[in-house]
Amino acid sequence: MVTKAETASISTSESLFEKAQRHIPGGVNSPVRAFRSVGMTPLFISRAKGSHIFDADGNSYLDYVGSWGPMILGHADERVLEAVIRACRNGTSFGAPTESEITLAAKIKSAVPSVELIRFVNSGNEATQGALRVARGYTGRDKIVKFAGCYHGSVDPLLVKAGSGATTLGVPDSLGVPAAVVQDTLIAEFNDLQGVENLSLRNSGQIAAIILEVIPGNMGVIKPDAGFLRGLRELCDREGIVLVFDEVMTGFRVAWGGAQSLFQVFPDISTFGKIIGGGFPVGAYGGKAEIMSQVAPLGGVYQAGTLSGNPVAMAAGITTLTILEKENPYPKLDERSRNLMDAFAAAARAGGKSLQTACYGGMMGFFFSEGTVRNYGHALASDNDSYIRFFRGMLNEGIYFAPSAYEAMFISTAHEEQDFERTVEAAQRVMATL
Ligand SMILES: *Cc1c(COP(=O)(O)O)cnc(C)c1O
Repeated sequence: MVTKAETASISTSESLFEKAQRHIPGGVNSPVRAFRSVGMTPLFISRAKGSHIFDADGNSYLDYVGSWGPMILGHADERVLEAVIRACRNGTSFGAPTESEITLAAKIKSAVPSVELIRFVNSGNEATQGALRVARGYTGRDKIVKFAGCYHGSVDPLLVKAGSGATTLGVPDSLGVPAAVVQDTLIAEFNDLQGVENLSLRNSGQIAAIILEVIPGNMGVIKPDAGFLRGLRELCDREGIVLVFDEVMTGFRVAWGGAQSLFQVFPDISTFGKIIGGGFPVGAYGGKAEIMSQVAPLGGVYQAGTLSGNPVAMAAGITTLTILEKENPYPKLDERSRNLMDAFAAAARAGGKSLQTACYGGMMGFFFSEGTVRNYGHALASDNDSYIRFFRGMLNEGIYFAPSAYEAMFISTAHEEQDFERTVEAAQRVMATL
């Protein structure tokens, strides 16, 4: 199938991109949207419904990006829309507390019992920033440990992946982040407990927090070793370090209780975002009451937000979580993700390539790689060119995947059996040409 966008000399998306670049750096408000890593220009989206998005040229695509995670009920779910419109009619922001914040907080706590007190913010970025600040305030220590390839938002001290293999001193990934800001950020390899133990020994009594994506989804999707997670928990208990699980992507995505419920390892602080906002800008950080009571106005750790706990966003989040709790779609999402990844792996094998796959609930990913992918180095060594060809081939088939090999893919409860059949048939055709 050839899309309209390809036959037209210049598409509406291309002309919008041209215009956007005159006003917005690179034409986009978040870098991955620019399609640079697949060597294309972005589709401008005009609307979306259920499992499909529609671009400005009127082409329809089956969507496996789901706004990068939030849209677990599919796009423009009528029940969420109704709740949002109802909330809007009562006023869209007050800068004062509302009952809806209590409802969403209680809902999250009931799903994730490690959370005793929770603070709402406006994005995942703010959530991880708040989590670090409270961990530092609570422990009176400055250093933090993060893992190479784990993404926690564009927060200054976390914008560091790895120096050379030999050094564990943070080197910023971005211009504009002063070296002083990341000098307390220590980098470890994911799934390497011994490496973290060594860091802890060398920085004894100085580490405030260890932060990680329990199931990393921002370097492709990586399987955590249960022993690695348990080992981090024990290390943190022994050394008085605050363990922070960044569940911005995995929260309510991989299971009702998040990734921590799958592995039965529980953090001191969790961060959330994406699904808890039901498609609106929301983040949250929460955990042990003893730690969270350091947050102002209870304690001396300051953190604030004009639109935090926004009633419209709360309404979208409450409705989304209420539906997820009632319908428990996770077993079905698990099964569908597994079937999809198995079918992709078989199609790749038929085309002479090896796929490494991982899937958890409605989140999954695959690498073109012969060997198991356990950390960032392995992920970077996977075959990026094959992914780019896969992405372009699938887009030609009217199926929209993330425009980068190092992102997760997402399904929603609105994806139907026929959507998956169509995807598998397209993948078989595309994988045969890689
Ligand atoms: C998306 C994401 C963030 C950042 O959330 P934003 O809402 O984009 O600020 C942080 N951590 C993880 C694990 C994420 O996937």
